[in-house]
Amino acid sequence: MATNIQIPVLPRLNSSDSKATQGEQSMINKKILAVTVTVMLMCAGGLFCFGYTISDTHAQQTKASEVLQTEAVALPQETIPEAEQFDIGNGNVYLAQYQYDESVHQLVLVRQSESDISGATLYLLEKNKYNQWHMIMECPAYIGENGLDKTIEGDKKTPRGDFSLSHAMGIKPDPGSIMTYTVITDSMYVCGDPEYYNQIIDTAYVAHECGSNSEHLIDYIPQYNYTLYVDYNPQNEYGKGSAIMLHCFGSYPYTMGCIAIAEENMIKVLQTVSNGSRICIY
Ligand SMILES: [Zn+2]
Repeated sequence: MATNIQIPVLPRLNSSDSKATQGEQSMINKKILAVTVTVMLMCAGGLFCFGYTISDTHAQQTKASEVLQTEAVALPQETIPEAEQFDIGNGNVYLAQYQYDESVHQLVLVRQSESDISGATLYLLEKNKYNQWHMIMECPAYIGENGLDKTIEGDKKTPRGDFSLSHAMGIKPDPGSIMTYTVITDSMYVCGDPEYYNQIIDTAYVAHECGSNSEHLIDYIPQYNYTLYVDYNPQNEYGKGSAIMLHCFGSYPYTMGCIAIAEENMIKVLQTVSNGSRICIY
């Protein structure tokens, strides 16, 4: 800062030492005030100019660095991958339906075989950050002995349509499930009685004795080694069908209405699907 200011020598302000009269004192005070104001203005001006120069330079530097940053981001030019095409029949309808739905990150598609009424293919897909679907797994599956379009309990059919998945559980320990996993205990059932129809209950906590139409979950080895609940009949309408699950293969090439896949594939599903995932059966 080049503020080379000449400050005049001022009279001492201690009035006891001053020989000035009241009038002279008043004049001196006015002079002091004038000089002080002048000095302050000069300093302020100098600071302003200095500050302006600094901020201007700083602004230019910021601009320069912004340009550099923009170039740095633009240089490795992130290429959005080309959307994959899937040979999954009507499953593409569900992919389109949930592509921009932020509550759905994974889809389990179950496509009935054209040649085998109880045979199917399961596709596990996950969305990337560009809302593009990516195939995680494709594996063989079994559905109801009498195929799709379940309407009533005991028709040995698997429901057709779009359902949520819930209640990750199994007889075996948690395989690293993304959804909260419950280890099946001896007191857990899917109730077949009117009172708690189609609901998973633990008779250790619910005062109820399940009848013969109920499923004692721990008895279903290996099917329920790992399982996810398919939210079919969410109103729990009695007789419409209950205990529809995605679970591990049993002994037969069909189910009573559930969807079955190999145990290692069921583990993969549990390690992938999060809350909001859906299962679409077609
Ligand atoms: Zn019951």
